[in-house]
Amino acid sequence: MTTQVRKCPKCFQLMWLTENQYELLDESIVRAKCPHCGSTVRFTLVSQGDNAAGPKMGH
Ligand SMILES: [Zn+2]
Repeated sequence: MTTQVRKCPKCFQLMWLTENQYELLDESIVRAKCPHCGSTVRFTLVSQGDNAAGPKMGH
């Protein structure tokens, strides 16, 4: 696993998560705690290399 950079859906700040700051719930689902607001957030890991089927673009 590598460092993940995600924007928190609650406080909209970037979360830099090293591999011991998040945990895999599933093969592609990650749970982490936002270091800014303390919210528990989940996000999907996007596999690299192959085209990810149907990328979900939020707004
Ligand atoms: Zn947050």
